Amino acid sequence: MTASRTENIIIIGSGPAAWTAAVYAARANLRPIVVEGLAIGTELPGGQLMLTTEIENFPGFPEAITGPDLMDRMKAQAVRYGTRVVSDMVKSVDLSARPFVVSTEWGEPLSAHTLIVATGAAAKWIGLPNEIKLATTGGGVSACAVCDGAIPFYRNKVLGVVGGGDTAMEEAMYLTKFASEVVIIHRRDSFRASKVMANRVLSHPKIRVIWNAQVTEVHGEQEITGVELTDTITGERRTQSLGGLFVAIGHAPNTKFLGHQLALSEHGYIKVESWRTATSVDGVFAAGDVIDDYYRQAITSAGTGCMAALEAERWLSHHGIGEAPVLETAEGIVQLPPEERTDGAAG
Ligand code: FAD
Ligand code: NAP
Repeated sequence: MTASRTENIIIIGSGPAAWTAAVYAARANLRPIVVEGLAIGTELPGGQLMLTTEIENFPGFPEAITGPDLMDRMKAQAVRYGTRVVSDMVKSVDLSARPFVVSTEWGEPLSAHTLIVATGAAAKWIGLPNEIKLATTGGGVSACAVCDGAIPFYRNKVLGVVGGGDTAMEEAMYLTKFASEVVIIHRRDSFRASKVMANRVLSHPKIRVIWNAQVTEVHGEQEITGVELTDTITGERRTQSLGGLFVAIGHAPNTKFLGHQLALSEHGYIKVESWRTATSVDGVFAAGDVIDDYYRQAITSAGTGCMAALEAERWLSHHGIGEAPVLETAEGIVQLPPEERTDGAAG
Protein backbone atom coordinates (compact mmCIF):
# COMPACT_ATOMS: atom_id res chain seq x y z
CA MET A 1 0.00 0.00 0.00
CA THR A 2 1.47 3.36 -1.03
CA ALA A 3 1.89 6.21 1.46
CA SER A 4 -0.41 8.47 -0.53
CA ARG A 5 -3.29 6.11 0.22
CA THR A 6 -2.62 6.06 3.92
CA GLU A 7 -5.43 7.72 5.88
CA ASN A 8 -4.87 9.88 8.93
CA ILE A 9 -7.55 8.23 11.06
CA ILE A 10 -9.80 5.24 10.61
CA ILE A 11 -12.59 4.97 13.15
CA ILE A 12 -14.09 1.50 13.54
CA GLY A 13 -17.67 1.39 14.84
CA SER A 14 -20.78 3.54 14.55
CA GLY A 15 -22.22 4.24 18.00
CA PRO A 16 -22.02 7.52 19.96
CA ALA A 17 -18.26 7.06 20.52
CA ALA A 18 -17.46 6.61 16.82
CA TRP A 19 -19.58 9.51 15.53
CA THR A 20 -18.33 11.88 18.23
CA ALA A 21 -14.74 10.96 17.40
CA ALA A 22 -15.56 11.55 13.72
CA VAL A 23 -17.05 15.00 14.36
CA TYR A 24 -13.89 16.07 16.20
CA ALA A 25 -11.48 14.52 13.69
CA ALA A 26 -13.39 15.92 10.71
CA ARG A 27 -13.50 19.41 12.20
CA ALA A 28 -9.71 19.15 12.63
CA ASN A 29 -9.49 18.59 8.83
CA LEU A 30 -8.19 15.05 9.28
CA ARG A 31 -10.78 13.60 6.84
CA PRO A 32 -11.54 10.52 8.95
CA ILE A 33 -13.01 7.34 7.57
CA VAL A 34 -15.65 5.60 9.67
CA VAL A 35 -16.16 1.90 9.00
CA GLU A 36 -19.67 1.62 10.36
CA GLY A 37 -20.36 -2.12 10.34
CA LEU A 38 -23.16 -4.12 8.74
CA ALA A 39 -26.56 -5.26 9.99
CA ILE A 40 -25.99 -8.69 11.50
CA GLY A 41 -28.74 -10.02 13.79
CA THR A 42 -29.37 -7.47 16.56
CA GLU A 43 -26.10 -5.64 15.76
CA LEU A 44 -26.83 -2.65 13.55
CA PRO A 45 -24.84 0.26 12.12
CA GLY A 46 -25.62 2.99 14.65
CA GLY A 47 -24.95 0.75 17.59
CA GLN A 48 -26.96 -0.30 20.61
CA LEU A 49 -29.26 2.73 20.56
CA MET A 50 -30.76 1.45 17.31
CA LEU A 51 -32.44 -1.18 19.50
CA THR A 52 -34.30 1.21 21.72
CA THR A 53 -37.03 3.84 21.57
CA GLU A 54 -36.93 6.93 23.78
CA ILE A 55 -33.61 8.28 25.06
CA GLU A 56 -34.37 10.60 27.97
CA ASN A 57 -30.90 11.04 29.44
CA PHE A 58 -28.85 12.39 26.54
CA PRO A 59 -28.36 16.12 27.21
CA GLY A 60 -29.84 18.54 24.71
CA PHE A 61 -33.11 16.73 24.07
CA PRO A 62 -35.55 17.88 26.75
CA GLU A 63 -38.47 16.15 25.00
CA ALA A 64 -36.41 12.95 24.54
CA ILE A 65 -35.35 11.54 21.19
CA THR A 66 -35.53 8.03 19.79
CA GLY A 67 -32.31 6.02 19.65
CA PRO A 68 -32.29 5.71 15.82
CA ASP A 69 -33.01 9.46 15.45
CA LEU A 70 -30.15 10.36 17.76
CA MET A 71 -27.77 8.14 15.83
CA ASP A 72 -28.92 9.54 12.45
CA ARG A 73 -28.22 13.04 13.75
CA MET A 74 -24.78 12.14 15.07
CA LYS A 75 -23.86 10.54 11.73
CA ALA A 76 -25.21 13.52 9.74
CA GLN A 77 -23.14 15.90 11.88
CA ALA A 78 -19.98 13.87 11.25
CA VAL A 79 -20.65 13.64 7.50
CA ARG A 80 -21.39 17.37 7.29
CA TYR A 81 -17.79 18.15 8.32
CA GLY A 82 -16.20 15.74 5.85
CA THR A 83 -16.27 12.28 7.43
CA ARG A 84 -16.24 9.51 4.83
CA VAL A 85 -18.36 6.47 5.68
CA VAL A 86 -17.60 2.90 4.63
CA SER A 87 -20.53 0.49 5.05
CA ASP A 88 -18.58 -2.64 5.79
CA MET A 89 -17.47 -4.79 8.70
CA VAL A 90 -13.87 -4.86 9.86
CA LYS A 91 -12.83 -8.50 9.98
CA SER A 92 -9.20 -8.01 11.07
CA VAL A 93 -6.51 -5.42 11.68
CA ASP A 94 -2.73 -5.65 11.40
CA LEU A 95 -1.11 -3.58 14.13
CA SER A 96 2.33 -5.16 13.79
CA ALA A 97 3.65 -2.61 11.29
CA ARG A 98 2.99 1.01 10.27
CA PRO A 99 0.79 2.21 8.73
CA PHE A 100 -1.85 -0.05 10.30
CA VAL A 101 -3.90 -2.16 7.91
CA VAL A 102 -7.66 -2.62 8.31
CA SER A 103 -9.29 -5.47 6.38
CA THR A 104 -13.03 -5.51 5.80
CA GLU A 105 -15.49 -8.18 4.71
CA TRP A 106 -16.15 -6.78 1.22
CA GLY A 107 -13.84 -3.90 0.34
CA GLU A 108 -10.13 -3.37 -0.37
CA PRO A 109 -7.86 -3.17 2.72
CA LEU A 110 -7.47 0.33 4.17
CA SER A 111 -4.40 1.74 5.86
CA ALA A 112 -4.00 4.51 8.41
CA HIS A 113 -1.52 6.20 10.73
CA THR A 114 -3.96 6.06 13.66
CA LEU A 115 -6.98 3.97 14.55
CA ILE A 116 -9.86 4.60 16.90
CA VAL A 117 -11.63 1.42 17.97
CA ALA A 118 -15.23 2.21 18.96
CA THR A 119 -16.95 -1.09 18.29
CA GLY A 120 -18.97 -1.09 21.50
CA ALA A 121 -20.40 -4.04 23.27
CA ALA A 122 -23.45 -6.14 22.67
CA ALA A 123 -25.93 -6.75 25.47
CA LYS A 124 -26.61 -10.48 25.59
CA TRP A 125 -30.21 -11.51 24.97
CA ILE A 126 -31.90 -14.77 25.84
CA GLY A 127 -32.68 -15.16 22.14
CA LEU A 128 -36.50 -15.47 22.15
CA PRO A 129 -38.21 -13.94 19.08
CA ASN A 130 -40.80 -11.94 21.06
CA GLU A 131 -38.09 -10.74 23.47
CA ILE A 132 -36.20 -9.06 20.62
CA LYS A 133 -39.40 -7.75 18.99
CA LEU A 134 -40.67 -6.08 22.19
CA ALA A 135 -37.16 -4.77 22.98
CA THR A 136 -36.93 -3.00 19.63
CA THR A 137 -40.48 -1.60 19.65
CA GLY A 138 -40.63 -0.19 23.16
CA GLY A 139 -42.92 -3.01 24.27
CA GLY A 140 -41.47 -3.40 27.77
CA VAL A 141 -38.33 -5.48 27.27
CA SER A 142 -34.98 -3.83 27.92
CA ALA A 143 -31.32 -4.61 28.55
CA CYS A 144 -30.63 -1.43 30.54
CA ALA A 145 -32.48 -0.45 33.72
CA VAL A 146 -30.56 2.79 34.17
CA CYS A 147 -31.56 3.78 30.63
CA ASP A 148 -35.20 2.73 30.64
CA GLY A 149 -36.32 2.10 34.22
CA ALA A 150 -37.43 5.67 34.88
CA ILE A 151 -39.72 5.78 31.83
CA PRO A 152 -43.39 6.11 32.94
CA PHE A 153 -44.20 2.82 31.16
CA TYR A 154 -42.47 0.87 33.95
CA ARG A 155 -43.89 2.76 36.95
CA ASN A 156 -45.68 0.79 39.69
CA LYS A 157 -45.58 -2.48 37.81
CA VAL A 158 -44.16 -5.90 38.63
CA LEU A 159 -40.83 -5.95 36.77
CA GLY A 160 -38.74 -9.02 36.02
CA VAL A 161 -34.94 -9.12 35.95
CA VAL A 162 -33.20 -12.10 34.35
CA GLY A 163 -29.74 -13.07 35.59
CA GLY A 164 -27.78 -13.82 38.73
CA GLY A 165 -24.63 -11.72 38.34
CA ASP A 166 -23.69 -8.31 39.70
CA THR A 167 -25.42 -6.55 36.80
CA ALA A 168 -28.71 -8.27 37.60
CA MET A 169 -28.33 -7.28 41.27
CA GLU A 170 -27.68 -3.66 40.35
CA GLU A 171 -30.54 -3.54 37.88
CA ALA A 172 -32.94 -5.08 40.43
CA MET A 173 -31.91 -2.60 43.14
CA TYR A 174 -32.26 0.31 40.73
CA LEU A 175 -35.73 -0.79 39.62
CA THR A 176 -37.07 -0.88 43.19
CA LYS A 177 -37.33 2.93 42.89
CA PHE A 178 -40.05 2.60 40.25
CA ALA A 179 -41.59 -0.89 40.45
CA SER A 180 -44.32 -2.18 42.74
CA GLU A 181 -42.27 -5.40 42.95
CA VAL A 182 -39.07 -6.69 41.33
CA VAL A 183 -38.89 -10.39 40.52
CA ILE A 184 -35.42 -11.77 39.79
CA ILE A 185 -35.52 -14.87 37.60
CA HIS A 186 -32.35 -16.95 37.85
CA ARG A 187 -31.58 -20.28 36.23
CA ARG A 188 -29.74 -21.75 39.21
CA ASP A 189 -30.27 -21.92 43.01
CA SER A 190 -27.52 -19.45 43.93
CA PHE A 191 -26.29 -16.12 42.61
CA ARG A 192 -22.98 -15.62 40.84
CA ALA A 193 -22.97 -12.03 42.14
CA SER A 194 -20.67 -10.84 44.90
CA LYS A 195 -21.93 -11.68 48.42
CA VAL A 196 -22.43 -8.08 49.43
CA MET A 197 -24.62 -7.27 46.43
CA ALA A 198 -26.53 -10.55 46.64
CA ASN A 199 -27.27 -9.97 50.34
CA ARG A 200 -28.50 -6.46 49.64
CA VAL A 201 -30.92 -7.85 47.07
CA LEU A 202 -32.06 -10.79 49.18
CA SER A 203 -32.92 -8.56 52.11
CA HIS A 204 -34.80 -5.94 50.06
CA PRO A 205 -38.52 -5.94 50.86
CA LYS A 206 -39.53 -5.18 47.25
CA ILE A 207 -37.44 -7.95 45.65
CA ARG A 208 -38.48 -11.61 45.26
CA VAL A 209 -36.35 -14.30 43.60
CA ILE A 210 -37.58 -17.16 41.46
CA TRP A 211 -34.79 -19.74 41.53
CA ASN A 212 -34.08 -22.50 38.99
CA ALA A 213 -36.15 -20.88 36.28
CA GLN A 214 -35.45 -20.05 32.67
CA VAL A 215 -37.55 -17.63 30.62
CA THR A 216 -38.70 -19.71 27.67
CA GLU A 217 -41.29 -17.37 26.18
CA VAL A 218 -42.22 -13.69 26.38
CA HIS A 219 -45.98 -13.02 26.19
CA GLY A 220 -47.65 -9.90 24.77
CA GLU A 221 -48.46 -8.43 21.37
CA GLN A 222 -47.69 -4.69 21.57
CA GLU A 223 -46.64 -4.74 25.25
CA ILE A 224 -45.32 -7.45 27.49
CA THR A 225 -47.92 -9.14 29.70
CA GLY A 226 -45.75 -11.85 31.23
CA VAL A 227 -43.30 -14.66 30.62
CA GLU A 228 -43.35 -18.42 30.49
CA LEU A 229 -40.93 -19.91 32.99
CA THR A 230 -39.51 -23.40 32.73
CA ASP A 231 -38.16 -24.96 35.90
CA THR A 232 -34.56 -25.95 35.14
CA ILE A 233 -34.79 -29.00 37.43
CA THR A 234 -38.30 -30.42 36.90
CA GLY A 235 -39.04 -28.98 33.43
CA GLU A 236 -42.39 -27.73 34.74
CA ARG A 237 -43.79 -24.65 32.98
CA ARG A 238 -45.78 -21.77 34.41
CA THR A 239 -46.71 -18.21 33.60
CA GLN A 240 -45.48 -15.17 35.54
CA SER A 241 -47.34 -11.89 34.89
CA LEU A 242 -44.97 -8.96 34.37
CA GLY A 243 -45.24 -5.31 33.32
CA GLY A 244 -41.62 -5.20 32.13
CA LEU A 245 -38.62 -7.45 31.67
CA PHE A 246 -34.97 -6.46 32.08
CA VAL A 247 -32.48 -8.93 30.64
CA ALA A 248 -29.22 -8.67 32.62
CA ILE A 249 -27.22 -11.70 31.56
CA GLY A 250 -24.01 -9.89 30.62
CA HIS A 251 -22.41 -7.96 27.78
CA ALA A 252 -19.88 -9.02 25.17
CA PRO A 253 -17.38 -6.37 23.99
CA ASN A 254 -16.82 -6.44 20.21
CA THR A 255 -13.09 -7.14 20.19
CA LYS A 256 -12.72 -10.48 18.39
CA PHE A 257 -11.52 -8.86 15.15
CA LEU A 258 -8.50 -7.45 17.03
CA GLY A 259 -6.99 -10.93 17.32
CA HIS A 260 -5.46 -10.17 20.74
CA GLN A 261 -3.17 -7.47 19.31
CA LEU A 262 -4.34 -5.02 21.99
CA ALA A 263 -4.17 -5.67 25.73
CA LEU A 264 -7.61 -6.68 26.99
CA SER A 265 -9.13 -6.98 30.44
CA GLU A 266 -10.20 -10.33 31.91
CA HIS A 267 -13.67 -9.85 30.36
CA GLY A 268 -12.37 -8.84 26.92
CA TYR A 269 -12.61 -5.02 27.19
CA ILE A 270 -9.76 -2.97 25.68
CA LYS A 271 -7.37 -1.66 28.31
CA VAL A 272 -6.58 2.06 28.08
CA GLU A 273 -4.35 4.38 30.06
CA SER A 274 -5.98 5.96 33.09
CA TRP A 275 -8.11 8.98 32.04
CA ARG A 276 -6.88 8.53 28.48
CA THR A 277 -7.92 6.46 25.46
CA ALA A 278 -4.44 5.29 24.42
CA THR A 279 -4.25 1.50 24.14
CA SER A 280 -1.27 -0.83 24.45
CA VAL A 281 -0.28 -0.05 20.82
CA ASP A 282 1.07 3.43 20.12
CA GLY A 283 -1.26 5.25 17.70
CA VAL A 284 -4.29 3.08 18.45
CA PHE A 285 -7.01 4.63 20.62
CA ALA A 286 -10.25 3.15 21.90
CA ALA A 287 -13.51 4.66 23.11
CA GLY A 288 -17.04 3.85 24.24
CA ASP A 289 -18.44 0.65 25.68
CA VAL A 290 -15.56 -1.37 24.24
CA ILE A 291 -13.36 0.09 27.01
CA ASP A 292 -16.09 0.42 29.63
CA ASP A 293 -17.88 -2.31 31.56
CA TYR A 294 -18.96 0.15 34.25
CA TYR A 295 -20.87 3.21 32.97
CA ARG A 296 -22.17 1.87 29.63
CA GLN A 297 -24.00 5.07 28.64
CA ALA A 298 -24.35 6.99 25.39
CA ILE A 299 -23.02 10.18 26.93
CA THR A 300 -19.92 8.55 28.43
CA SER A 301 -19.27 6.84 25.09
CA ALA A 302 -19.55 10.17 23.30
CA GLY A 303 -17.20 11.68 25.89
CA THR A 304 -14.48 9.08 25.36
CA GLY A 305 -15.01 9.36 21.59
CA CYS A 306 -14.12 13.04 21.88
CA MET A 307 -11.06 12.16 23.98
CA ALA A 308 -9.87 9.56 21.45
CA ALA A 309 -10.12 12.00 18.54
CA LEU A 310 -8.19 14.68 20.42
CA GLU A 311 -5.51 12.18 21.39
CA ALA A 312 -5.25 10.88 17.82
CA GLU A 313 -5.05 14.46 16.53
CA ARG A 314 -2.28 15.16 18.97
CA TRP A 315 -0.45 11.94 18.07
CA LEU A 316 -0.59 12.89 14.38
CA SER A 317 0.67 16.40 14.98
CA HIS A 318 3.57 15.03 17.02
CA HIS A 319 4.40 12.89 13.99
CA GLY A 320 4.29 15.83 11.60
CA ILE A 321 0.75 15.28 10.27
CA GLY A 322 -2.03 17.80 10.67
CA GLU A 323 -2.22 21.53 10.86
CA ALA A 324 -1.09 22.49 14.34
CA PRO A 325 -0.02 20.87 17.56
CA VAL A 326 -2.97 20.61 19.91
CA LEU A 327 -3.44 20.16 23.63
CA GLU A 328 0.14 21.19 24.32
CA THR A 329 -0.85 22.35 27.76
CA ALA A 330 -2.54 19.12 28.72
CA GLU A 331 0.56 17.10 29.50
CA GLY A 332 -0.98 15.15 32.35
CA ILE A 333 -3.93 14.79 34.63
CA VAL A 334 -4.21 17.59 37.13
CA GLN A 335 -3.46 15.97 40.48
CA LEU A 336 -4.92 17.21 43.73
CA PRO A 337 -2.29 18.41 46.19
CA PRO A 338 -1.57 15.70 48.80
CA GLU A 339 -3.45 17.50 51.60
CA GLU A 340 -6.67 17.48 49.56
CA ARG A 341 -6.58 13.78 48.72
CA THR A 342 -8.92 11.42 50.54
CA ASP A 343 -7.63 8.17 49.05
CA GLY A 344 -4.95 7.60 51.64
CA ALA A 345 -2.16 8.47 49.19
CA ALA A 346 -1.44 11.78 50.89
CA GLY A 347 0.72 10.35 53.66
P1 FAD B 1 -22.24 0.83 20.37
O1 FAD B 1 -23.49 1.60 20.50
O2 FAD B 1 -22.11 -0.45 21.11
O3 FAD B 1 -22.04 0.58 18.80
C1 FAD B 1 -20.92 -0.01 18.28
C2 FAD B 1 -21.25 -0.40 16.86
O4 FAD B 1 -20.02 -0.56 16.14
C3 FAD B 1 -21.93 -1.76 16.68
O5 FAD B 1 -23.31 -1.76 16.89
C4 FAD B 1 -21.60 -2.09 15.23
O6 FAD B 1 -22.55 -1.52 14.35
C5 FAD B 1 -20.24 -1.41 15.05
N1 FAD B 1 -19.22 -2.45 15.00
C6 FAD B 1 -18.97 -3.46 15.90
N2 FAD B 1 -17.98 -4.24 15.47
C7 FAD B 1 -17.58 -3.72 14.27
C8 FAD B 1 -16.60 -4.10 13.32
N3 FAD B 1 -15.80 -5.16 13.50
N4 FAD B 1 -16.47 -3.35 12.19
C9 FAD B 1 -17.25 -2.26 11.99
N5 FAD B 1 -18.21 -1.87 12.85
C10 FAD B 1 -18.37 -2.60 13.98
N6 FAD B 1 -27.50 4.60 27.04
C11 FAD B 1 -27.95 5.81 27.42
O7 FAD B 1 -27.15 6.70 27.72
N7 FAD B 1 -29.30 6.09 27.44
C12 FAD B 1 -30.25 5.17 27.11
O8 FAD B 1 -31.45 5.45 27.18
C13 FAD B 1 -29.78 3.88 26.70
N8 FAD B 1 -30.68 2.93 26.34
C14 FAD B 1 -30.22 1.69 25.95
C15 FAD B 1 -31.15 0.73 25.58
C16 FAD B 1 -30.71 -0.52 25.18
C17 FAD B 1 -31.72 -1.56 24.78
C18 FAD B 1 -29.31 -0.82 25.14
C19 FAD B 1 -28.83 -2.18 24.69
C20 FAD B 1 -28.38 0.13 25.53
C21 FAD B 1 -28.83 1.40 25.94
N9 FAD B 1 -27.94 2.39 26.33
C22 FAD B 1 -28.39 3.63 26.69
C23 FAD B 1 -26.48 2.15 26.34
C24 FAD B 1 -25.88 2.76 25.07
O9 FAD B 1 -26.58 2.26 23.96
C25 FAD B 1 -24.41 2.41 24.95
O10 FAD B 1 -23.71 2.81 26.12
C26 FAD B 1 -23.78 3.10 23.74
O11 FAD B 1 -24.53 2.84 22.58
C27 FAD B 1 -22.35 2.62 23.53
O12 FAD B 1 -21.86 3.33 22.44
P2 FAD B 1 -20.55 2.90 21.63
O13 FAD B 1 -20.25 4.05 20.77
O14 FAD B 1 -19.52 2.40 22.54
O15 FAD B 1 -20.94 1.69 20.70
P1 NAP C 1 -21.97 -12.34 34.68
O1 NAP C 1 -21.22 -12.21 35.97
O2 NAP C 1 -21.41 -13.15 33.58
O3 NAP C 1 -23.41 -12.92 35.07
C1 NAP C 1 -24.33 -13.24 34.08
C2 NAP C 1 -25.53 -13.91 34.76
O4 NAP C 1 -26.51 -14.18 33.75
C3 NAP C 1 -25.17 -15.24 35.42
O5 NAP C 1 -25.86 -15.36 36.64
C4 NAP C 1 -25.64 -16.27 34.41
O6 NAP C 1 -26.12 -17.45 35.02
C5 NAP C 1 -26.82 -15.56 33.76
N1 NAP C 1 -26.99 -15.98 32.39
C6 NAP C 1 -26.06 -15.99 31.39
N2 NAP C 1 -26.62 -16.39 30.24
C7 NAP C 1 -27.92 -16.65 30.52
C8 NAP C 1 -29.02 -17.09 29.74
N3 NAP C 1 -28.89 -17.36 28.43
N4 NAP C 1 -30.23 -17.25 30.34
C9 NAP C 1 -30.38 -16.99 31.67
N5 NAP C 1 -29.38 -16.55 32.45
C10 NAP C 1 -28.16 -16.39 31.88
O7 NAP C 1 -22.28 -10.90 34.02
P2 NAP C 1 -22.54 -9.50 34.75
O8 NAP C 1 -23.49 -9.65 35.87
O9 NAP C 1 -22.88 -8.56 33.65
O10 NAP C 1 -21.11 -9.12 35.32
C11 NAP C 1 -19.95 -9.06 34.45
C12 NAP C 1 -18.73 -8.62 35.26
O11 NAP C 1 -18.90 -7.26 35.67
C13 NAP C 1 -18.55 -9.43 36.55
O12 NAP C 1 -17.18 -9.58 36.78
C14 NAP C 1 -19.15 -8.56 37.61
O13 NAP C 1 -18.62 -8.79 38.90
C15 NAP C 1 -18.82 -7.17 37.08
N6 NAP C 1 -19.81 -6.18 37.57
C16 NAP C 1 -19.54 -5.57 38.75
C17 NAP C 1 -20.44 -4.65 39.28
C18 NAP C 1 -20.11 -3.97 40.57
O14 NAP C 1 -19.22 -4.40 41.25
N7 NAP C 1 -20.81 -2.91 40.93
C19 NAP C 1 -21.63 -4.38 38.60
C20 NAP C 1 -21.90 -5.04 37.41
C21 NAP C 1 -20.98 -5.96 36.91
P3 NAP C 1 -25.12 -18.47 35.74
O15 NAP C 1 -24.78 -17.83 37.05
O16 NAP C 1 -25.95 -19.71 35.88
O17 NAP C 1 -23.96 -18.64 34.82
